[in-house]
This record gives sequence, C-alpha cells and structure tokens, in this order.
Amino acid sequence: MTTLEYPKIAAGKVRELYAVDDEHLLLVASDRISAYDVVFDTPIPDKGRVLTAMSVFWFSLLSDVLPNHLVSYEDERIPAEVRGRALLVRRLAMLPLEAVARGYLTGTGLADYRARGTVCGVELPPGLTDSSRLPEPIFTPATKADRGSHDQNIAFDDVVGQLGRERAEEVREATLAVYRRGAEFAAERGILLADTKLEFGIDRQGNLVLADEVLTPDSSRYWPAGGYAPDSPQPSFDKQPLRDWLTSPASGWHRRDRPESPPLPEDIVAATRARYIESYERITGRSLQDWPA
Ligand code: ATP
Ligand code: MG
Repeated sequence: MTTLEYPKIAAGKVRELYAVDDEHLLLVASDRISAYDVVFDTPIPDKGRVLTAMSVFWFSLLSDVLPNHLVSYEDERIPAEVRGRALLVRRLAMLPLEAVARGYLTGTGLADYRARGTVCGVELPPGLTDSSRLPEPIFTPATKADRGSHDQNIAFDDVVGQLGRERAEEVREATLAVYRRGAEFAAERGILLADTKLEFGIDRQGNLVLADEVLTPDSSRYWPAGGYAPDSPQPSFDKQPLRDWLTSPASGWHRRDRPESPPLPEDIVAATRARYIESYERITGRSLQDWPA
C-alpha cells in the first residue's frame, strides 16, 4: 500500500493530507524545512518523524485537558513508506482560525505591540521589549491565510463574531490551557515555550477537538532557557544552525533580496537534524530510536 492510493486533499509547506475514508484522514509530515518563509529543497532526515512523535507525545499528555483527533500512528491503514511520520486522524470540521497563545513577546506580537501597545486587542503594560515575558499568557488568534500569504492577527471580538461567544471562549480557554501545560512541562526540561499555534476542529457530536500538530518545533517557538536574555531576539532551539548559516555570507542568500533557496551543506543538515532530535528527546524523555521508522 502507498499514499498514492489515497486522494490528496491538501499540501502545505511541510505536510500533506490524504483522505482515507469519510471519517479519517492521513496527515503526513515530510522532512522539508522552512526558515524565514523559505522552503528548502534539501531535506532534514528524521524531521518528519520528530514532529510526528512529538505531536503524539503531547496529544497523550494533554488528553485530560481536551480531546484530540489522533486515532493511531501504527494502524495498518498507514502505508509503510510514511510510517513514523504519518498519523491517522479523525476528520473534523476545522475552525477557520489559528489559535495562538503567547507567553513571551516576539514576532508579529511584538510588531503589533510596538505599533499600538496591544496584541489582538489585548492591552499590555508599557516598557516591554523583544522577548519580554508577558505578565500572563495571552490568546492572540489569527486568520488562516491561504498559501503564499500571511496569517493576520485578529481580535477576540472577531472570533466571537465568527464562532459565537460560547465557542470563542471555549477556544480561548483551551488554547491557554494547552500553552500553560506545555510551557510548564518544557520549563522543567530547560526549554522555554515562547508561543504556540493550535488548530481546532468540531466533531460530529459538536465537541471542540484539538487537531493538526501540537507543540511541535514547527508550530511553536522553543528557546533554550539557559541563555534567555530579553531585549533581543532569542536563538531558536531547533532552527538556529540553519538560520545562522542562511544569514551568513557563506550561504550567498540575503534576507532582503530573497533569492532562490540555496542547497544546504551537509554539516548544516547534520546540526539541524541533531537539534530536532535533541528537542524531542529532551522534552519527552524518550529516544527517537524507539519511534517507528
Ligand atoms: P502551512 O502550515 O504550510 O502554512 P497549512 O496549515 O495549510 O499550511 P499543513 O499544516 O501542512 O498546511 O496541512 C494540514 C492541513 O490539514 C491544515 O489545513 C489543517 O487545517 C488540516 N487538518 C489538520 N487536522 C485535520 C483534521 N483532523 N480534520 C480536517 N482537517 C485537518
Ligand atoms: Mg499548518
């Protein structure tokens, strides 16, 4: 059996989605990597396995907080060629929203704060800078942009307009609960969870269900706690070797001109791969060798 037997219903920058039947989907994570919105042709071996294993770990850890879409990572409906980096999941009616929680201020949150003093309508105290820890975690939803464009931050009231107050509040509380649990767990292992982006769907009974990937390095900013120094951008736990090389003269790539993405040198691939594996093993306490290949 191969994935070719299933109709492909979507392809993102990094993942592909196949229809298994009316009620199930196959979510396949590739080894592709992106940085600064550039997707590279050179794969990072095992990245898809790391992301998949990490999602499974968190789904299970969070299952007392809320239900999730995971059915299996070793079901016979998962083709051997993608085993270890594919999940069989329940098909849901997805909410058209990126549910973001932030415990630290950076990225578009920082840009909004600098322009208006608020992020997604949430008032923040004056004097915060890049990477400041927020007084408490905040819910900062965004639209789900089509491929090629960027997600736009929106206010909680916009979510209420879309989903109704009750569902909007449920999404906000669930998002913050996932963030808090994730941040607390990671902090005990020397890693700060700066922010994370969740996707939710609704099942046939009308329940809110956690979907997509959860608390992976691709959907979250993980920072090494050791060197945390606010007032500047923090190194990324996983992508920093790639970013440093990309922005160095050695790559021939410029953030301003954005030429075609260069092939990645072997040592950068190896260093990035090692960081992904380390993030999985540090956070979960498990070995990637024990995960299906
Ligand atoms: P990108 O992440 O590359 O910016 P994307 O979010 O559209 O783009 P992916 O995350 O790679 O792409 O693809 C996953 C897609 O599958 C998303 O559109 C997501 O909403 C959808 N999805 C995830 N879980 C489920 C589910 N249980 N039921 C239905 N759709 C789902
Ligand atoms: Mg996505």
